[in-house]
Amino acid sequence: MHFTGRTWRPPYEASSFIVQVTSGCTHNKCSFCSLYKNECFRMSPLEEFKEDLAELASYQPTARRIFLTGANPFVMSYENLAERALLIHDYLVECQTIAMFSSIRDIKNKKVWQLRRLRSLGINGISIGTESGDNSTLLLANKGYTAKDLIEQCRKLDEAGMEYYFVYMTGLAGKENSYRNAVNSAKVFSKVNPRFISVDSLTLFPDTELYRMAQERKFIPAGEKERLEELQTFIKHLQIRTHLFANSVSNFYPTTAFLPKERDRIISELQYIIDTVSEEEMQEYRRNLHTLG
Ligand code: SF4
Repeated sequence: MHFTGRTWRPPYEASSFIVQVTSGCTHNKCSFCSLYKNECFRMSPLEEFKEDLAELASYQPTARRIFLTGANPFVMSYENLAERALLIHDYLVECQTIAMFSSIRDIKNKKVWQLRRLRSLGINGISIGTESGDNSTLLLANKGYTAKDLIEQCRKLDEAGMEYYFVYMTGLAGKENSYRNAVNSAKVFSKVNPRFISVDSLTLFPDTELYRMAQERKFIPAGEKERLEELQTFIKHLQIRTHLFANSVSNFYPTTAFLPKERDRIISELQYIIDTVSEEEMQEYRRNLHTLG
């Protein structure tokens, strides 16, 4: 199999079969991210892609879910995505779904009928690193889209029946801005239909813009208890039925919940942690995080 550069997949795609279709990120400018800093965006040539599918088919002919690599393979044109999906079905006849990462920006160049057609070709399960729905926080993170874009583009996915997942990042708005970020993000996320929301918490790594800003005191990171309260606020204000996963390594306290059914339970659990664990202990945990992988 051809794998160049960093290959990153979400934890919930652990049992999917990974095929390289792109590597790197076309945006590569988010202020908190250094994932693909030293890589150029690359699209796998068709011949290389076919070789990988043939190899996968030789040892996993019954593969049912494929995860395509790269920070945003959904940036590819409708025609290119459709061609790749058809090829996947040629080699892997039992494949049911083709999942991948996308940015909100990458949906803009696709019409609803095209999304519907891609959905019918098995493309379903789009992971979107939304991080926030609050405009000031999106600007600080340099995500390259606004809350309005997020709603408009995800409504197109809803209309096309294409399933998608969000990420919310606690701590991203900085000290004393977490409440605003949580309330605004919950309002925006509630206007669309993410199948689930995965929660990460900001960890500053040295080769990022936000780290540099923190060194210069232009960005003051939120404390750990503030982040747990932010998560409580976010959950309280969410008005959709969804599954929340706050169990990645960047969360001091890993937890998950079906919402709204388990809202009270998760809020109480988080309160217990806020009341019984010291801020210092939580900060020590984050200082010892050297990687999110
Ligand atoms: S967060 Fe995602 S979109 Fe932003 S630079 Fe990193 S990989 Fe690219």
